Amino acid sequence: MARYTESVCKLCRREREKLFLKGARCFTDKCAMERKPYVPGEKGRTRSRETEYLIQLREKQKAKRIYGLQERQFKNYYKKASAQKGITGENLLRLLETRLDSVAYLMGLAASRSEARQLISHGHVRVSDRKVDISSFQVKPGQIIEIDGRSKDMDRIKSALELSSGLEVPEWLEVDRENLKGTVLRYPLREEIKAPVREQLIVELYSK
Ligand code: SF4
Repeated sequence: MARYTESVCKLCRREREKLFLKGARCFTDKCAMERKPYVPGEKGRTRSRETEYLIQLREKQKAKRIYGLQERQFKNYYKKASAQKGITGENLLRLLETRLDSVAYLMGLAASRSEARQLISHGHVRVSDRKVDISSFQVKPGQIIEIDGRSKDMDRIKSALELSSGLEVPEWLEVDRENLKGTVLRYPLREEIKAPVREQLIVELYSK
């Protein structure tokens, strides 16, 4: 499937919810959801009736968009989650939340998950002293995520840290902002995953 190339703000408008895909802009009144809080093309039109299927589908689309995944990648996460012990929906969210790009974002090293993906693919991130340039790398408790020494002066990282200074770091992560690094203390509990996703709807969709 082709990669999405239009404004990501349209994705928030499509889901009728702020998904925080654009870093600093999401916290300003330039946010498209502040100015045009309706589905693109829908202003003034009657909303179509939402069936159970459509509600489930939208929830899956929203999760895909928050974590920046394509359909096939998302489905693979679902398969992996359903093969694990425990509650499939929670397994799915845990797998998504512990991707390296998501963890770098939650640590405040990047202003958005997409910016984190760029940092990682350009080789600016190390995991336990090893350069890792794969955004989907699954982090594990005990691992240390840090910005590579030569990249620590990058303006975009300083801006991201500034932006995240007022935000809460999840308790399953420990962050050393001064040294641009953090440790994964444990896997996140469901209630610690703040992405606004009702995972049960996704499980119902894929179980049809
Ligand atoms: Fe979504 Fe951020 Fe764009 Fe607002 S600025 S619509 S939260 S991506």
